[in-house]
Amino acid sequence: MHTEMLIGAKFEKGTEAGEAVLNPKTGATILDLPEANPAQIEAAVAAAEKAFASWSRTTPAERSACLLKIADRIEADAAEFARLEALNCGKPINSVLNDEIPAIVDCWRFFAGAVRTMPGQVAGEYLPGHTSMIRRDPVGVVASIAPWNYPLMMMAWKLAPAIAGGNTVVFKPSEQTPLTALKLARVLADVLPEGVVNVVLGRGDSVGSPLINHPKVNMISITGDVATGKKVLQAAAKSVKRTHLELGGKAPVVVFDDADLDAVVTGLRAFGYYNAGQDCTAACRIYAGRKIYDKLVADLSSAVSTIRYNRPDDTENEIGPLISRRQRDRVSSFVERASELKHIEITTGGRPGEGSGFFYQPTVVAGALQEDEIVRREVFGPVVSVTHFSDADEAVAWANDSDYGLASSVWTKDIARAMATAARLQYGCTWINTHFMLCNEMPHGGLKQSGYGKDMSLYALEDYTAVRHVMIAHS
Ligand code: NAD
Repeated sequence: MHTEMLIGAKFEKGTEAGEAVLNPKTGATILDLPEANPAQIEAAVAAAEKAFASWSRTTPAERSACLLKIADRIEADAAEFARLEALNCGKPINSVLNDEIPAIVDCWRFFAGAVRTMPGQVAGEYLPGHTSMIRRDPVGVVASIAPWNYPLMMMAWKLAPAIAGGNTVVFKPSEQTPLTALKLARVLADVLPEGVVNVVLGRGDSVGSPLINHPKVNMISITGDVATGKKVLQAAAKSVKRTHLELGGKAPVVVFDDADLDAVVTGLRAFGYYNAGQDCTAACRIYAGRKIYDKLVADLSSAVSTIRYNRPDDTENEIGPLISRRQRDRVSSFVERASELKHIEITTGGRPGEGSGFFYQPTVVAGALQEDEIVRREVFGPVVSVTHFSDADEAVAWANDSDYGLASSVWTKDIARAMATAARLQYGCTWINTHFMLCNEMPHGGLKQSGYGKDMSLYALEDYTAVRHVMIAHS
């Protein structure tokens, strides 16, 4: 297991006391990893700054070749990357190996291609006697900070467009899930010139904060909590840094009476609980028409009660535990507070799982009202609430009545109603008769307090590059 950070061309251990890295399935410590000290953070930023001078002048084809090599190396070592990710996050091995790793490899490959074909406005004489053209140039040193729910995937979403665009990066994984980042650092050091990507370890306050406040950092990219995003904005305001924010979510799912109930139940069983609900797009806030509501609650509860977890043979598991005891207790306290309300019924689940791991039973909270905390706040666990609505206007109003704006879905057989509803939803993504599905060609990102950075797609390359105008006088 790799334990050293990457700073320039050197692999170094941190020197400051950090958090223990835990196995969420058992609660046992995997290892203690020291954090970066201030001099190491300084050295990482300096290495990125130095590397920028030459990396930013490489051709798209040269950068593309590096990204393709990184993709190939991850693919060739997929089993070991998946084993480490499963160990550190408690994810079922099959989910990592069969769902996440192929999407991660494809992300690196997508940006390898995309950077060679970036579109833009045509050059021309927009002023007589002058030719104008548009350039897209890198921003500089990016401080890139990731969460714990999909560590290797978030690393791909953040690093691939940043370095494809010619930037250099200091990357900080979550202090809870650094293991695959440390393994990927070995690959990055082999493939990329010194300093293009640096990986430092540590917690938000002690390492993340000095990094985002560093005067030589030109851009901050963060996926995390809304509260952390606000701290990033404060740090950015000091020197007007560019920011790329991917924050939380509380995805509404609008189910009309004419929806295909079996498809809805199958979809919610998968998309509400994948990764134990630790997903900012999780289908967690259901609004159901009055006619379909009772059957939906009954069928969903019975389907959710069959979700397999905490089985000794991991290949049978569909979901894992929560990432930490703190997160499990947080989820538990949301459900406890909800269950104290007279109008609410917990129709399945509602308790922590057995054993020393951080499991929580897949849970359905029926009868929830729009003003209830369980409907309004991000739980980030295997918990789905169901609320009934009277008409489309009420469903749309409630769906939009949220601080978040990342993802949403509409379920109906009436395509006109689906399109009309999708048009009114204030979310970065609206799925129709599905939920959760992502592809690297399409953007992922939010509105409102979910942030405004786009991951994946050409829009991410736009976020990590600056538009510039160059004008040439003819005489
Ligand atoms: P978090 O905000 O606690 O931590 C995210 C990262 O930020 C970690 O690496 C952490 O060390 C760092 N950090 C914390 N405080 C910091 C500070 N003051 N300065 C700099 N860095 C700091 O979030 P989390 O608990 O790791 O992740 C869960 C959250 O992430 C959820 O709210 C979830 O919705 C969100 N999320 C969003 C997306 C998306 O695409 N929008 C994807 C995944 C997760």
